This record gives sequence, C-alpha cells and structure tokens, in this order.
Amino acid sequence: MMQTCYLNQYKAFLLDIDGVLVHDGEPIPGAAAAVERLQRSGPVLLFTNNSTRTRDTIAARLQRSGFPVEPEMVMTSAQIAACYLHETVGLCNLWPLGEEGLTAELCLAGHRLASPGEAAWVVVGMDRQITYAKLADALCALHTGARLLATNNDATFPSPSGLQPGAGAIVGALAGMGYPPDVIVGKPSPIAYRIALDKIGHSPEEILMIGDRLETDILGANCAGTDSALLLSGVSSRADITKLGIIPTLIAPDLAALVRGEGSLCS
Ligand SMILES: [Mg+2]
Repeated sequence: MMQTCYLNQYKAFLLDIDGVLVHDGEPIPGAAAAVERLQRSGPVLLFTNNSTRTRDTIAARLQRSGFPVEPEMVMTSAQIAACYLHETVGLCNLWPLGEEGLTAELCLAGHRLASPGEAAWVVVGMDRQITYAKLADALCALHTGARLLATNNDATFPSPSGLQPGAGAIVGALAGMGYPPDVIVGKPSPIAYRIALDKIGHSPEEILMIGDRLETDILGANCAGTDSALLLSGVSSRADITKLGIIPTLIAPDLAALVRGEGSLCS
C-alpha cells in the first residue's frame, strides 16, 4: 500500500465510465466525490468506447446520478471516429451502422449521411437493433468500395443480466463477409489516445488514465506513454494482469480508494 499524494504528479485525468463511475447503470459509491476531487487537481476527460449515446445524453445521465459532468467533458468513440475521418479525409459521405449516439456525433461534426451505395465509409458501432437487412446494406456499401471504420472492437460488455455482445460482434459479422475493418479508432487504438490528449492539452507523462479493462484502457495508455490505474470495480481482475501481461502503473479497488491514496504501485 502506498500512501499519500501520488496523484499530485498528474496534471490531467482520462477516466473510463463503465466500471469506473457506474456499474450496471448504477453509480459506484464514492465515485462522484472522487471526480470532484480529481477536478481540483486538473482537467478530467471521460473517455468511453460506448458509441450508442451522445455526449449530451451521457452527461445528463451522470448528472442525474450526482456526477459533476458537462457534455464537454465527455469523449465517445463516435466522436473519435468523426474527428479521425475529418482529419484524414475531410468531411465525407458515410453510412453508419450503430445507434443514435453514433449517427448524431457524425452529423454534428459535419459528415453527411449517404445511402449504402453512395457511402465512402461505413462507420460501425454497437447496434442493439442489428438485423440481417442492416448487414446486407453494409455489405452493399463495402462491396461498392466503401471503407470500413470500427468505433471499437470490444467483444462483450457486462450488464445486470450477464455479458452482452459488444461492437466487436458486429465488426466480426462484417469480417465474416470478407470485410475486416480498415481502421479501429476506439481504445486501445493510439488514434483514440492522441485525439483525447489533444483535447485535454497535456503531454502523456502528465496524464493518468483510469480504467477497469486491461486490454483497452490500460493497454492503450501503456502504448500512449501515459501512466494508468486499474480499478477492480469493473471487468478486469488482479489475476488478469499476469494472464494478459498488461501491467498498469497503479491498482486500486475503486475510484474513491484511488483518490484517497489507497492505490498500490503495480510492478
Ligand atoms: Mg469500462
């Protein structure tokens, strides 16, 4: 157990949402106060692979649970997708395969929705209303020459009724038709971390990434050169660290404990 103010060395914080602030839709005890405490040390950016909701909806839900969160503090994989496309090809015609949060963020950034036959890009996120007809439309677009961007490739996510299929299930369906993604932009991609670091305006060594999933949050942070804290309040366990060989800088039971200085150095 290491004591004191190891958090003081960081000037900004990237926080995952599910498994860090909320679990199964319910706020994790002490997390809201911990976010307030972190905000006194520097800017906080909530950094999620979830593309199903807009940042406004995410912020509103968190506010209702007592979190001091504004929409500008949220960055979703849908925003990262919109930003990446803008940077690399400019505003483009695209066909989204995903939920409201994906379509809304792409349009907000100025991209144009197109029919499958006219889209330059298919942008795929998690879609809980996926159908055979949607997969057929995606195939039409890809067969016509559209490129494929995946917001993330998370295989599954936990819910109160057990594990649910994630965006990776739909990415896998498209790969099964012969179209693996041209690019995956969400965590652990370096694209996600570069765009988040640009937004937060600090260099990697000044930032702590706090998350609950080793293969996304922590792996991406390690590759981006930021320190990372694994919280045991979500998906990954302490045993997974050796199993996966992905080592965080710090480990703590939950966000409140981390902020109280009860994290351990992991080595
Ligand atoms: Mg998480």
